[in-house]
Amino acid sequence: MKNWMRKLARHYQKTRDLYPEQKLLLVFDIDGTILDMRYMILRILKLFDKSHSTAFFKDLKLSDINFNENQVEELLGQLKIPGQQSKEIFDWYLEHRWSSTSILESHRPFLGVVEVIRWFQIQPNTYVGLNTGRPESIRNDTLRSLNKLGEEYKVSFTDDLLYMNPYGWDMKVSEGKVAGLRHFQKGGYRIFAFVDNEPENLRAVSEIDEYREILLLHANTIFESKRKRLPGSTMSGKVYDITELIPERALPSHVQFVWHGANDEANLRQFLASNIHWAEYDVRMDPDGDNLILRHDSFERTPMQEHEEFLLLEHILKLHKKMDKSLKLDLKEGGLLIDKIVEVLKASGFDSSQLWFNGNVEVLQEDRFRKLAKAYPRAIKQCPIDFLTPIILSVPDKAKEMLDIFRGWGINRFSVNWKTPYMRQLLDQIDKWGFEVNLYNIPDLESFLKAVLLLPRSITSDFNFPKWHYYGRGAGENLKHYEYSIRRSP
Ligand SMILES: [Mg+2]
Repeated sequence: MKNWMRKLARHYQKTRDLYPEQKLLLVFDIDGTILDMRYMILRILKLFDKSHSTAFFKDLKLSDINFNENQVEELLGQLKIPGQQSKEIFDWYLEHRWSSTSILESHRPFLGVVEVIRWFQIQPNTYVGLNTGRPESIRNDTLRSLNKLGEEYKVSFTDDLLYMNPYGWDMKVSEGKVAGLRHFQKGGYRIFAFVDNEPENLRAVSEIDEYREILLLHANTIFESKRKRLPGSTMSGKVYDITELIPERALPSHVQFVWHGANDEANLRQFLASNIHWAEYDVRMDPDGDNLILRHDSFERTPMQEHEEFLLLEHILKLHKKMDKSLKLDLKEGGLLIDKIVEVLKASGFDSSQLWFNGNVEVLQEDRFRKLAKAYPRAIKQCPIDFLTPIILSVPDKAKEMLDIFRGWGINRFSVNWKTPYMRQLLDQIDKWGFEVNLYNIPDLESFLKAVLLLPRSITSDFNFPKWHYYGRGAGENLKHYEYSIRRSP
């Protein structure tokens, strides 16, 4: 197995199966493993220039920094800064790098790592611990900064799961790591994996792990001790890729998944063969006004195409009935559409709980939402609320009044576009009010999994995930579809 994240997922599952009742712990180093220290180095050096009116680092870019936070002297040498000034800069760097402001303002995580942490934090009886070479004196700053950057991912770190180097700054770091793992073990945790960017630390841990129960993961970022010291069983990796970490079978069962826009035969066939329980259809009246058809675009926007064929809603209802799957209907029009839908659904004998209606408030208006709520009390009635984002984030009390009005119409779920600016803050606010949220417009597997990690009530997605052998095509705005390609295996 080549991918470290896939290996981590397997090893976690294996440990879970062996010890179903125990508290499992994944342990992370911080600097160079969770945090990309190049940001801190860059910020401190630029700050030197600024406060000394010099220009040593005017052209220095993130990508120029190939050294870790303890090797800044080498970096200065490479930049050919004369000895006396170099010493002055280095002393200044040492003095400022662990200041509270530096810790709070310049520490950035590697891409994907916070998602990996969140994934394990939402698993039952599973915890994430931190084991760092930083000393106790910066415990509070460490927790504050990590919790600040974890906030929008709903990740939090607690005092009891942070172990700091008892020997002080840069002293006996590997021994400190071993002591940290022992400390967590004494606390009743079974450690299933340890992630660190320093081979020396991984080696020290491998020496105390007699039964090889702790998977050693080497974050191959920028490391200090020589590569050859990496113990044999270690998996190395550079990218925290959640699409390798999270398999379909591990998706949380309390989030509802909806296959978006299954309006055509090809998409529909994919959906029916999938494990997904809900499909969304765009419902309109046909041009003659007789039948309910599936079509994303209005006829004004995209005129009827030559040889265009429509699927009828009634056909879909039969298929869903047969396969025992549920339906989400995106109601694209007001007018007679709602009466017609109520009539057709009545004939089909669907239970309220298998139905979900989505419509824009300006299209359906109060009376049609009330009509749906009356006919289908147990169904999900939903409207998108992206248009309220600026109000929700700036005048929340007013926005809450609006949402309460919609709730009064029978609407019981609010839908949020994944690509809305400030989406995470928006979601957080709606969560706090206790409303159910659907996330939609999620383009690919990585975004889908990120959405899953936020644990909304439901997620509507195209399921265009070749990695999972799902080839959903979406609703086809202007009759266009997302594309995908299937590669031949080598
Ligand atoms: Mg480190």
